[in-house]
Amino acid sequence: MQFHGSAPSLAACPRWARTEIALAGRSNVGKSSLLNALAGRKHLARTSKNPGRTRCLNFFTVGEKLALVDLPGYGYAKIPHSEAAKIALLMNQYVAERRELKGIVLLIDIRRGPQSEELTLLELVQRRSMNGAESPGLLLVATKCDKLKRAERLSALRRFEAIGAPLSCSILTGEGIDQLQKEILRLAHPQRPEP
Ligand code: GDP
Repeated sequence: MQFHGSAPSLAACPRWARTEIALAGRSNVGKSSLLNALAGRKHLARTSKNPGRTRCLNFFTVGEKLALVDLPGYGYAKIPHSEAAKIALLMNQYVAERRELKGIVLLIDIRRGPQSEELTLLELVQRRSMNGAESPGLLLVATKCDKLKRAERLSALRRFEAIGAPLSCSILTGEGIDQLQKEILRLAHPQRPEP
């Protein structure tokens, strides 16, 4: 996996024939850590955490035909409301209009569960299909699952039930990482049979 570049607007996104799978989640959810784990590299996603780039769409190429897109996080405590509104607009436009987008991986901290921002994003995905465009596939991921003991985890996962069953992941224990890799490929190539 390689960092390709950042786009501050939809118009600045790469023009290519790659299938794009986007990773979305609240700031601090563990998005960069998961990207690094998927890439098998420690500091790859730091590139997209440089000041300025946190407000952009960040593109990572995988092989010849796939790209992972790090969507700007939401829920930053320290940025002004007007900035947050711009970031939300960029994310919404990308999800609503980007043709190359075939799947969204929505990361949610297992201890928080889905909140209004996540529900809004899910609505946006559904609206895209109502507008006649092909709806991107969706994968829910519960991050930092090492933070909870087994019983706590089961009750935490109940909060996800309304939106679907998440894949539980942890970069500390490695749980779910291989599966996540497979699921991303499946989102990118929905017809491909199980290896
Ligand atoms: P981002 O803002 O979504 O890119 O989040 P980061 O990847 O920077 O992670 C935020 C914080 O959570 C960092 O301190 C990470 O070390 C920590 N973190 C990320 N993933 C995990 C995980 O699976 N388990 C635990 N315990 N901590 C994690």
